[in-house]
Amino acid sequence: MAATTAAGGGGIGRVAVIGAGTMGAGIAQVAAMAGHGTVLFDVDAGQLGRALRRIGAALEKGVRLGKVEAAVRDAALARLEVAERLEEAVGGADLVIEAAPESMPLKREIFAAVEGAGGAGAILATNTSSLSVTEMAAGLGGEERFLGLHFFNPVHIMALVEVVRGERTAPETLDRALGFVRGLGKEPIVVTDSPGFASSRLGVALGLEAIRMVEGGVAAPQDIDRAMVLGYRHPMGPLRLTDLVGLDVRLGIARYLHEALGSESFRPPALLEEMVARGHLGRKTGRGFYNWEDG
Ligand code: NAD
Repeated sequence: MAATTAAGGGGIGRVAVIGAGTMGAGIAQVAAMAGHGTVLFDVDAGQLGRALRRIGAALEKGVRLGKVEAAVRDAALARLEVAERLEEAVGGADLVIEAAPESMPLKREIFAAVEGAGGAGAILATNTSSLSVTEMAAGLGGEERFLGLHFFNPVHIMALVEVVRGERTAPETLDRALGFVRGLGKEPIVVTDSPGFASSRLGVALGLEAIRMVEGGVAAPQDIDRAMVLGYRHPMGPLRLTDLVGLDVRLGIARYLHEALGSESFRPPALLEEMVARGHLGRKTGRGFYNWEDG
């Protein structure tokens, strides 16, 4: 078991992270760096080893670049543990953060298991990027202790955390979660439980409109991106970002938002559907709005 730690931000001491993939590893890293005894759990034990190696490498790089003190790295690694059984991970946790794949049935199953495994009493948070927090919590014993904590990738670099208030989230739960996020050195924004929250809804709207502009021959992808980078100071244009996120991922979110919000702004453009059908998914397949074959 991870060493017990004094309560940190939001009066939260021990943190359990469920799912040790891209996001879970990052969340565990920042929690341990902020002084929380942190335990990572995954159904795939191989993921635990990979997550520890990734966290170690990220901390090492931070030290090399002069952004992390060696003592902070050592203390964070000492506070971090992995568990192969859910009970070990959630027993004694003040906050449980779920970062498993984006599936409502899977996430509901995980939270039911967490409640049964000794997590009752802890604040329960999901890192979902789109699903309804209220629906996820429905029927759980502790709906008032439930909310969304939407971190961004890479977690140790991105400052934003969307704190999603479900219909039954208690004010005290929200306050403690905000304290926790600030204690990580991150900037929280509070959003109500609405499809796509604030970040995905706006980001995807911009990306889809940019694709419609390519379709309509308004300008070349590079020039549409340049318009946002040079004219609006976005760090990256919407089409390049779509390539990095993955066109299939964007299409999935667009379909969901189109249905959930009933807004034509989110109807997937034909060009996006066609590119996904042809397997042009962006950087991961070498082709999207840009050619990534040379890396
Ligand atoms: P991932 O596939 O990298 O990791 C998911 C992990 O969950 C895997 O290690 C898997 O073995 C594990 N898992 C599966 N079933 C489990 C179970 N029953 N119990 C415990 N662990 C289980 O996924 P990710 O990219 O880290 O995304 C996780 C969540 O975070 C998703 O809801 C996603 O929408 C959200 N999110 C992702 C990003 C991103 O950029 N990747 C950003 C913000 C939010």
